[in-house]
Amino acid sequence: MGETQRKISSGQIRFMSPERGVLQLATNAVLNAIWDLWAKAEDKPLWRLVADMTPEELVKTMDFRYVSDVLTPEQALEMLKKQANTKAGRIQLALQNQAVPAYNTSAGWLGHSDDKVRELLQSATKQGFRHFKLKAGLGVEADRKRLGFVREVVGDEGVLMVDVNQLWDVDEAIEYMKQLADLKLWFIEEPTSPDDILGHAKIRAALKPYGIGVATGEHINNRVMFKQLLQAEALDAVQLDACRLASVNEILTVLLMSAKFGVPVVPHSGGAGMVELCSHISTIDFAVVSGKKSILEYTDHLHEAFEAPAAITPQGYHVTPTVPGYSCDVREAQFAEFECPNGSFWSSTRGQTMLGDPWRGVPGEQTS
Ligand SMILES: [Mg+2]
Repeated sequence: MGETQRKISSGQIRFMSPERGVLQLATNAVLNAIWDLWAKAEDKPLWRLVADMTPEELVKTMDFRYVSDVLTPEQALEMLKKQANTKAGRIQLALQNQAVPAYNTSAGWLGHSDDKVRELLQSATKQGFRHFKLKAGLGVEADRKRLGFVREVVGDEGVLMVDVNQLWDVDEAIEYMKQLADLKLWFIEEPTSPDDILGHAKIRAALKPYGIGVATGEHINNRVMFKQLLQAEALDAVQLDACRLASVNEILTVLLMSAKFGVPVVPHSGGAGMVELCSHISTIDFAVVSGKKSILEYTDHLHEAFEAPAAITPQGYHVTPTVPGYSCDVREAQFAEFECPNGSFWSSTRGQTMLGDPWRGVPGEQTS
């Protein structure tokens, strides 16, 4: 798999913006499909296929090019061997759905009224959630009001995180977040451009005395950028995205580098199908790589579109996938309904309106 990744990303194709943008997304799609088929051929869920590999086999699935200055194959092997001694116990925990605690983002969208947020938070607390992430960036006073009552609902023991989806310049992020320090936020997510590695480092250093961390990763294209973010001490959480990096191959190198730098991996999984994929990734991180429990985003929508839908337990853990493959099979009925433009949805009034709108009903301005 390591060689396959390199073959796909090399050759003349490197003159077309290598390992980023649409080429990287396509690489991800092809490699995800190969991993899915491999796991199905072995009749195992993907996380188990990886967990059952020896450290030597695992190292062969990765491409260390461009990151060997911080992680060599030999170092990776040593790290994996160390964790292999205790892996069986963690696999047992995974089989009991106790590997990956969930955090909740479904309550925190800016489009919800305060009453709706309160209702969603209370129900999420009852479901076992203790970590909550909310969208912010409405203005210091508006954010303070909203986050203040959220803090009231979830109590002092609740862990709060905020996300502004690249809203600010670097110094603006620092000044803004300082004013929210008393709300005890674990981290600010995507405070600025995802490409600004040194900017994230500056924000993190400035906010550290205020007890606020920095997280990013959902728009990081490749292992090289994660390497630099880690080298620059720019992150408190690595939010890799299972649909953006070059599949499990590249994710494994990022998991290993994160473990080496002691930074927890908290994958981005806030979109359709992403919880399905990331529950494999977080289980692999726990069982095989870091040996530590981290949290994984759980958004409660669109799971019905998948053959092996993600779910959480009453204790607030992700249900560990059991169906062979990478949990990415979309149900046939979804294609019949939504395939554009022939699916039944597109002849409905709403579908017709969306067809005439280049943004498909999504507002152009920043709303989350
Ligand atoms: Mg985000």
